[in-house]
Amino acid sequence: MTRSYQIRTFGCQMNVHDSERLAGLLEDAGLSPVSGDEQADVVVFNTCAVRENADNKLYGTLGHLAPLKAANPDMQIAVGGCLAQKDKGEIVRRAPWVDVVFGTHNIGSLPVLLDRARHNREAQVEILDSLETFPSTLPARRDSAYSGWVSISVGCNNTCTFCIVPSLRGKEKDRRPGEILAEVSALVAEGVLEVTLLGQNVNSYGVEFGDRYAFGKLLRSCGSIEGLERVRFTSPHPKDFTDDVITAMAETPNVCHSLHMPLQSGSDRLLKEMRRSYRSAKYLDILSRVRSAMPDAAITTDIIVGFPGETDADFEATLDVVRQSRFSSAFTFQYSKRPGTPAASLPDQLPKHVVQERFDRLVALQNEITFELNREQVGRTVEVLVASGEGKRDSETHRMSGRARDGRLVHFAPGDLAIRPGDVIETEVTYAAPHYLVADGTVRSWRRTLAGDRSEAGIKPRTPGVSLGLPGFGKPAPLPAVSGCAAQ
Ligand code: SF4
Repeated sequence: MTRSYQIRTFGCQMNVHDSERLAGLLEDAGLSPVSGDEQADVVVFNTCAVRENADNKLYGTLGHLAPLKAANPDMQIAVGGCLAQKDKGEIVRRAPWVDVVFGTHNIGSLPVLLDRARHNREAQVEILDSLETFPSTLPARRDSAYSGWVSISVGCNNTCTFCIVPSLRGKEKDRRPGEILAEVSALVAEGVLEVTLLGQNVNSYGVEFGDRYAFGKLLRSCGSIEGLERVRFTSPHPKDFTDDVITAMAETPNVCHSLHMPLQSGSDRLLKEMRRSYRSAKYLDILSRVRSAMPDAAITTDIIVGFPGETDADFEATLDVVRQSRFSSAFTFQYSKRPGTPAASLPDQLPKHVVQERFDRLVALQNEITFELNREQVGRTVEVLVASGEGKRDSETHRMSGRARDGRLVHFAPGDLAIRPGDVIETEVTYAAPHYLVADGTVRSWRRTLAGDRSEAGIKPRTPGVSLGLPGFGKPAPLPAVSGCAAQ
């Protein structure tokens, strides 16, 4: 009997992509994804540790699985990701019905640990302090037929005082450009149109192998990959953001003019406390250089409200930088104390009501700006990569959805056209809403794509791991043929 698996993913894009690797590993081990509401034989939690309530959420969910496991002893539960890396054996102490605990540095060990736990009828806890193998050397079952994540580095060399990532994902390790380009080419060969280059800090990419300008070169090299229509990246860091990246974005046609640039705070005093290594003037200067090179660029950001010691004046400085930055949208967070981070032991942790009041004011200001900028899009013709999920025809409005090149969400009226997720259309924006655009007019152009064919057939790309030791930026070597496979 083929055993089934289910992966529950929490947190950031790195985790979403790691879960694609976990799916690839489990399928290589002969398991298949659970279908519908069936209870899976193997349940894997890929956890996040960035937010305070992440722990409570995990242990709560594990609690719900205990009676299921008692009723079905062959069921296996595995916990991985950042919370596993942080809590280690504590997880099986608090939830002894868990079979496997693995960390962020050894996701490749999951199948072996599951086998060992089953054979020895004993929980297996294996957490490494440094990276075992680069996750990109592992097979992946991709979530999307038209869009793919490609890691360029793991870990982070920065020490932002509120952040737990460096202690859980380790120092930055960079992949060789040739391997990244080979993986991108493999995805494109499978019909993928859009890739997002992933790293905790993509702007320091290449420092590890001594090439300070490697990230700009990588963007340009993506420009020469036939069939690759959209290149995105996350996360850049203002302290390392250099002009060569701006010109590479502006001069490479398939690089999208959308930039997610975390600000965190507009107060120079707090940026110092956060150890962000830039100040508001430099941040705003980068935005103005990006906008002069790409006037249509959509810029988004991350902002933390309520960092310990934040004064009214600090918060006003944040509001001021937000007004000047004109972000098309922002992810806003209330400061979350993370044990083990320097900020957690800072004095002046703020009371909840103060943080909430400031958070509400920031969100209100940003929503206003987002809506204003969306209204400026009315009348524009946009190219939309039609998305699944959001792409499904809305039963009420009969609209489909997808992302414009600048990252904005667009709901459009497909009319009688049999458009599929993965296809590309052009249409005119007829209406702006606070957080999305609407195009109710006629679709101007519709391009059926291989990705559209594959998503219609329910085929999701399966990519083998890539470790070809390809150092340089040269034309990527052709990869061994990869097989698309049956619907999920
Ligand atoms: S750059 Fe700062 S916030 Fe981002 S992962 Fe590194 S330490 Fe954390």
